[in-house]
Amino acid sequence: MDVKTLIIGAGAAGMMCAAHAGSGVLLVDHAKAPGEKIRISGGGRCNFTNLYAGPENFISQNPHFCKSALKRYTQWDFLDLVNAYGIAWHEKTLGQLFCDNSAKDIIAMLRAEMEKAGAQLWLRAEVGEITHDGSSFCVRVTKDGKTTNVTARNLVVASGGKSIPKMGATGLGYRVAAQFGLDVTDIRPGLVPLTFSDDRFKAIAGTTTHGTVAAGGPAFEEALLFTHRGLSGPAILQASSYWQEGDSICINLCPDGTLQEWLRTQRQVAGRKAVTTHLAQHLPNRLVGLLAEEMQITGNLGDQSDAALDELCTLLANWRLRPSGSEGYRTAEVTLGGVDTAGLSSSTMAAKTQAGLYFIGECVDVTGWLGGYNFQWAWSSGWAAGQAIQRA
Ligand SMILES: Cc1cc2nc3c(=O)[nH]c(=O)nc-3n(C[C@H](O)[C@H](O)[C@H](O)COP(=O)(O)OP(=O)(O)OC[C@H]3O[C@@H](n4cnc5c(N)ncnc54)[C@H](O)[C@@H]3O)c2cc1C
Repeated sequence: MDVKTLIIGAGAAGMMCAAHAGSGVLLVDHAKAPGEKIRISGGGRCNFTNLYAGPENFISQNPHFCKSALKRYTQWDFLDLVNAYGIAWHEKTLGQLFCDNSAKDIIAMLRAEMEKAGAQLWLRAEVGEITHDGSSFCVRVTKDGKTTNVTARNLVVASGGKSIPKMGATGLGYRVAAQFGLDVTDIRPGLVPLTFSDDRFKAIAGTTTHGTVAAGGPAFEEALLFTHRGLSGPAILQASSYWQEGDSICINLCPDGTLQEWLRTQRQVAGRKAVTTHLAQHLPNRLVGLLAEEMQITGNLGDQSDAALDELCTLLANWRLRPSGSEGYRTAEVTLGGVDTAGLSSSTMAAKTQAGLYFIGECVDVTGWLGGYNFQWAWSSGWAAGQAIQRA
């Protein structure tokens, strides 16, 4: 069977590319349905983009690589598409846009766009050997027990990263990159809960608080969640993408900077109450209990000197913890690293080492923050490759 363009992976990036790559597109995926990660994303409502998406929200060895695609296919372009399909949406927080009804609306929209473009979709299709004879790719695809040699001028790899293997993630993209002479950077789980080997938060599992968390990158101010195995919640997930094994993280439990002044005032009006009683007005009770043990917070507020209060506030603003690990690819929302952007064109996503070969979406070394950025990268990179293929 001969097609112009074969796309491996019917996820966010692959479907977007299929909708824009012109005629003669075959999209193959080993899953039983397209866009499975879209379906489960954003708690079933898909945080499909972010109003403030820009290159600064992405992590890559080359922070400039994502600029071209993000600029040419923006969050506003995707929003126009969503609006054209009458999909109701809302901004939840920090520019994050979610469907009002269901993530399935986004999948249906992408399927409709692919159908409009005439793309064929093969599901439950296993990809085998991939070769190139100098003019075309030849890919062995097995579906319903039948193996077909698909020849294609263009091969687009949109097979995602390694996160959530139970949903079909395989890391195929990295193998194809290596086969065709492209480098692959170190990869590791990102947007992932952090774990501690000593069960230190088990007693307060389920407690949430607000704070900033930094782990060698920017500080993220959002919610934190204490779990049986460690720490989670948006602030931790964000910071986890900058965390390296062995590093400590820094949590600021009083990010608005008003605690010190407030404690000094309270010392005058309610000095006979325990320091912990006062802190419990700012932080969850169970967390205060744990902090009291870890930071030896004792005594009444009235007995604390200015220096002691300063020290306490410094401790609460710089709570340093050393996670023993992360929950890994099993629960990570993304895979950090991937196909080295040095081997790709930033305007078309085409490989420099092999004509007709493209890498898009999560398999590329471009990883977004939490908040709709990863889908925006899938849309922008998928569109960029699609445009290039259609024009070629
Ligand atoms: C639980 C969860 C929630 C998320 N929520 C959000 C969110 O709300 N907003 C956001 O921006 N991002 C979110 N993300 C991240 C986002 O889902 C990914 O960044 C995005 O799906 C990447 O798109 P992709 O097309 O590159 O890869 P994928 O969507 O992973 O698609 C890859 C496709 O390739 C197929 N495939 C893989 N290997 C093979 C193979 N060997 N043969 C055939 N097919 C193969 C897979 O079956 C899959 O369909 C979430 C991720 C998870 C895990």
